[in-house]
Amino acid sequence: MAAPLVKTLSKTLRQFPRTPWGLYQSWLRRTSYAPPAAASNQTGGLTSFPPLQTYSEEESMTKEAVRKYAQERIAPLVSKMDENSAMDEEVIKSLFEQGLMGIEIDPEYGGTGSSFFSSILVIEELAKVDPSVAVLCDIQNTLINTLFVKLGTPAQKEKYLTRLSTDMIGSFCLSEAESGSDAFSLKTRADKHKDYYIINGSKMWISNAEHAGVFLVMANVDSSAGYRGITCFIVDRDAEGLEICKKENKLGLRASSTCPLNFDNVKVPEKNILGEVGHGYKYAIGMLNEGRIGIGAQMLGLAQGCFDHTIPYTRQRVQFGKRIFDFQGMQHQIAHVATQIEAARLLTYNAARLREAGRPFIKEACMAKYFSAEVATLTTSKCIEWMGGVGFTKDYPIEKYYRDCKIGTIYEGTTNIQLSTMAKFIDKEFDH
Ligand SMILES: Cc1cc2nc3c(=O)[nH]c(=O)nc-3n(C[C@H](O)[C@H](O)[C@H](O)COP(=O)(O)OP(=O)(O)OC[C@H]3O[C@@H](n4cnc5c(N)ncnc54)[C@H](O)[C@@H]3O)c2cc1C
Repeated sequence: MAAPLVKTLSKTLRQFPRTPWGLYQSWLRRTSYAPPAAASNQTGGLTSFPPLQTYSEEESMTKEAVRKYAQERIAPLVSKMDENSAMDEEVIKSLFEQGLMGIEIDPEYGGTGSSFFSSILVIEELAKVDPSVAVLCDIQNTLINTLFVKLGTPAQKEKYLTRLSTDMIGSFCLSEAESGSDAFSLKTRADKHKDYYIINGSKMWISNAEHAGVFLVMANVDSSAGYRGITCFIVDRDAEGLEICKKENKLGLRASSTCPLNFDNVKVPEKNILGEVGHGYKYAIGMLNEGRIGIGAQMLGLAQGCFDHTIPYTRQRVQFGKRIFDFQGMQHQIAHVATQIEAARLLTYNAARLREAGRPFIKEACMAKYFSAEVATLTTSKCIEWMGGVGFTKDYPIEKYYRDCKIGTIYEGTTNIQLSTMAKFIDKEFDH
């Protein structure tokens, strides 16, 4: 199995020598997605399946191209973006140029026409270099684009998908000051008038709001119906009465903007409802289930990136006449962390493959997100310790990974919420 794949891949890569992903997008568009197939040979009556870390040709190319792009175009800017607490405009521009903001969007709308699993690989690769850039790409692909693709009318798709894949960032607006984990107790309301709605209320913690051109806003059209009144509205950045407030001054993920939003009599035409009235809660749950695999990938990439920066140091640093890597006390810790990262990767890839195969994946997505966030916390903490004093300084990128990882246990459902959801599934599994 492996030889022909590698051969074809290297042949394809030779056709596109040292080019970023964008330049062979046209090739990708002609290549329909085919996940790694089960081997046709039968062993003892059982079909053998490829290991989870087997990639299709397209996936391998994507991974390699994004790795190179991130090293060349993002890595030199990471520290400056963190210090300035601002995403570099050139990074945003290049993400669009590379086709990384519309990964699953059909080429008909200017997208790359690739797969969910490819999005996961892209998020992982970006997070190895900068988790802030990864979350920009993650929210765009796993939440915003997917909602438009699944629910958009032809007119909405034409108007927004074409922009989302080429130059427009979208933000997902669910959380409010008083509704975080209990998201569907949200207070923002949308009152119907003839053929339009008036939105009043406020949102908190909205990622990428500083640069977003469109906001998907969950608002309640009928508070007496409780969560069954929650509806998803498409709100343009220039809507009158929409105020994007000062961004939060955060511990980590500093280059990613996180802003409160105010809605003061914002008029939204009825045609800007995404999906059906009163179904917003279903859409939000559904999207966050998928989004959690993206956060799993972000945390996985973050952990791997931090580990990759640290191990070379432990192989060079000499104490007591030996490389510090050679002490058994160090080796056991390093091997333990490497195992945890590998386990996080398997959980994340498995959840993504299940989602792509159209099979149930909610429990697995929670596990992937929960575990990857734990592994990122462990890895970054250990890496600082392994580097000694220099790990604690800004001369190395380790302390930034340590700050960036904390968000993994909070957004798109806190760790407790992931555990509660998993427990519900486990409880059901033992029903009979
Ligand atoms: C950087 C950042 C970016 C974000 N981006 C977005 C975004 O783009 N869009 C958006 O809509 N939201 C976003 N959020 C919001 C995020 O999803 C919420 O912060 C998260 O859901 C937690 O809500 P909360 O902060 O109100 O915490 P709370 O819900 O108040 O939770 C506080 C603590 O109580 C625990 N807890 C709460 N309920 C339970 C329970 N039933 N059982 C056990 N423990 C419980 C939690 O686990 C947590 O430990 C973002 C947040 C941050 C910090």
